[in-house]
Amino acid sequence: MPAVSIRVLSDVLVNQIKAGEVIERPAAVVKELVENSLDAGARRVEVDVEQGGLGLLRIRDDGHGIARDELILALERHATSKIGSLDDLEAVGSLGFRGEALASVLSVSRLSLASRQADAEHGWMLAGEGVLANREPQPSAQQQGTCIEVRDLFFNTPARRKFLKAEATEFRHIDLALRRLALARFDVAFSWKHNGRRVAELRPCLSEAGFEDRVREVCGDEFTDNALFLDETRLGTRLWGWVALPTFSRPLPDLQYLYVNGRAVRDRLLGGALRRAFADVLHSTRYPAFVLNIEIDPRGVDVNVHPQKTEVRFRDSARVHDLLFGAVHQALRKVRPDPEQHHRV
Ligand code: ADP
Ligand code: MG
Repeated sequence: MPAVSIRVLSDVLVNQIKAGEVIERPAAVVKELVENSLDAGARRVEVDVEQGGLGLLRIRDDGHGIARDELILALERHATSKIGSLDDLEAVGSLGFRGEALASVLSVSRLSLASRQADAEHGWMLAGEGVLANREPQPSAQQQGTCIEVRDLFFNTPARRKFLKAEATEFRHIDLALRRLALARFDVAFSWKHNGRRVAELRPCLSEAGFEDRVREVCGDEFTDNALFLDETRLGTRLWGWVALPTFSRPLPDLQYLYVNGRAVRDRLLGGALRRAFADVLHSTRYPAFVLNIEIDPRGVDVNVHPQKTEVRFRDSARVHDLLFGAVHQALRKVRPDPEQHHRV
């Protein structure tokens, strides 16, 4: 065999490899970019999608924006404004902190990033295809906030592009990702379009009284009319949200929204607690539906478990499990299921 020499990979290649971890499809780009908008304090997020996100993804927000001289940093790997130390990481309150998303997306798309801070005379922008075309920001007619356009996702990584599904399927994933984000932040306005057609227009809910309207818009009337609201705090950890009565169960786990400090999570422990809470009242082939939020001291949860940050670890997992199981089980016990409806599936 010929001798193989070891070499350091180029930055672009590293970014493309890392992109594979965080960005498996257009919906993942949407999630990362909208999370950035939320971290930037946006009150309004608008998303335009063309061709299932393979043609174009445009995310526009009215957040605090990025300074001219930091635009290039924003696109660099391991560059973040959100943490600066291990201490910060332990108490992280933002959705992002790895400083990888923008670098990864740029490495696999044709991207432009335009941003304007409140006190700036105008906006600035950078653009590139896989790599930056020009490291000098150009003036841009941009309102306060940030607008990112991602075109031709995976144009330079054909293996990844080949694995994508039809436009309609990719858009379904994007729509789901946006619903999930919209249920995390009732106070932010969201709207999204596909191929120029408006799909959702969600007004901000400024008081808790309005939250149910958002749930109704995202989850539908049937869920909302059949849901119990619960709100319970134990030892400083709060659980609140909606669980559907067993009369409204699902053949698939497609209406399950669970958040920890505003971050959508998938968690086996928490999933298990919910399954057990529903075990007495739900047929084993049916799935419960819920929108639940856990608010906990950030120091009690580790979000740095997985690149996509959808897995978490709790310092005191038994306490969180018991709160979730206890509160949901109790709420369900209080409503005696109508035996006739109960068996109708
Ligand atoms: P992370 O979110 O982990 O910090 P990203 O690569 O997603 O990493 O973003 C890098 C940096 O770019 C962020 O830390 C933030 O300072 C800036 N940034 C990205 N998107 C926005 C936005 N929509 N508004 C303001 N700043 C942004
Ligand atoms: Mg981010």
